[in-house]
Amino acid sequence: MPSYNTKQLQEIDGQHHLHPFTNHKDLMEKGSRIITKADGVYLWDSDGNKIIDGMAGLWCINVGYGRRELADTAHRQMLKLPYYNNFFQTTHPPAIELSKALVDISPPQFNHVFFTNSGSEANDTVVRIVRHYWALEGKPEKTVIISRENAYHGSTVAGSSLGGMKWMHDQGGILTDIEHIAQPYWYRNGGELTPEDFGLKTAQALETRIKEVGENRVAAFIGEPVQGAGGVIIPPFTYWPEIQKICEKYGILLIADEVICGFGRLGEWFGSEYFGINADLMPIAKGMSSGYLPIGGLMVGDRVANTVINKGSDFNHGFTYSGHPAACVVALENIRILKEDNIIERVKNKTSPYLQQRWSGLGDHPLVGEVRGIGMVGALELVKNKETREPFPKDQNVGMICRDFCFNNGLIMRAVGDTMIISPSLIMSNDEIDELVEKARLCLNLTAKEIGIS
Ligand SMILES: *Cc1c(COP(=O)(O)O)cnc(C)c1O
Repeated sequence: MPSYNTKQLQEIDGQHHLHPFTNHKDLMEKGSRIITKADGVYLWDSDGNKIIDGMAGLWCINVGYGRRELADTAHRQMLKLPYYNNFFQTTHPPAIELSKALVDISPPQFNHVFFTNSGSEANDTVVRIVRHYWALEGKPEKTVIISRENAYHGSTVAGSSLGGMKWMHDQGGILTDIEHIAQPYWYRNGGELTPEDFGLKTAQALETRIKEVGENRVAAFIGEPVQGAGGVIIPPFTYWPEIQKICEKYGILLIADEVICGFGRLGEWFGSEYFGINADLMPIAKGMSSGYLPIGGLMVGDRVANTVINKGSDFNHGFTYSGHPAACVVALENIRILKEDNIIERVKNKTSPYLQQRWSGLGDHPLVGEVRGIGMVGALELVKNKETREPFPKDQNVGMICRDFCFNNGLIMRAVGDTMIISPSLIMSNDEIDELVEKARLCLNLTAKEIGIS
């Protein structure tokens, strides 16, 4: 491979590479940031700058960068059997062993997995299997899936339709029979209600919508235990039990999208365990392989699996790379590391309490309206007025200003509008957490100065 310098790389990138979720004109003007290597919780760019990764890639590098075992196992598998498929009554040991390992760590109602290559494909599988299930149950009119505004379930047509981001629906359209209710976003929408009352009220919107749509038409409800890409929206504790109750009352399927919350991010294997959600389906991806190779899946609970297996013939669905052997052995090894290094237990008892204690200290900053966090995720809402919660005008782009300061000062923190979010690797040390929080404070200060607030 020829070796290019940063400027040359940026030029070629601008000319030929269309990036996901990127304003291409801005990119051509500023030049992309080029990451060349990583270790632990750190990244290095093509100019040699060291950056602490507050986002674990895109919420996925759960065991940290530079784990040799994950690379070695993929290498060995690719020499032995680089590919074979799982269609038409064939399979291979890595897919078999991973299916057992996933069932072992999942809540008891989950005894089957359908493999995909991403979270988006897992959510496409949700739409197909949910509607297939109800057809097999003799209720083909049950096709409506209820989701939430500002939810993120991926970027394929089905994923973005389930998701509640209007700016995505506006490009390419949306599937029929997907409904969206309000999200449990207390800081912005809670008004005078306590978080507990607001949680109940927001959950009860599900029952109202079921009645509006017609009980005979509603197939399922889908939600992320904690909304990630929407800005780390943490539901009040009253929310999920009420959702659960309503799903049970109307007999509709409950889907917990565990693509971010799964594999230890909340200090449990799954976010469902943290909130006591008893789901029928769980899309998984991201932390499943700690991002070392692409793999996702749909955990299928007994209620759906029994019908699909016993009442159906073929499920006409699958991907060439469903259960790719190299990705499967990486996911297996990742699960082994999470277990043997006690990473999830340490998140629960040590890493998350320390992160949240340090993170909450940023709440006194003049720009920060609300600081919130849970497990290994956190958010800072930047507002114009802390008392009234008045936001900044959109075109002031305060979140973007802060994000750029972060990058230029060696920290990856993401901006969702004016909400700054983190989701670091689960293996972050206390010293690294200190560094993350101190750099975040520095960048808040720089942002405040830039926009004339002190
Ligand atoms: C990232 C994400 C997805 C989509 O996963 P991809 O692998 O990017 O397709 C789906 N659901 C949630 C909750 C996510 O955070």
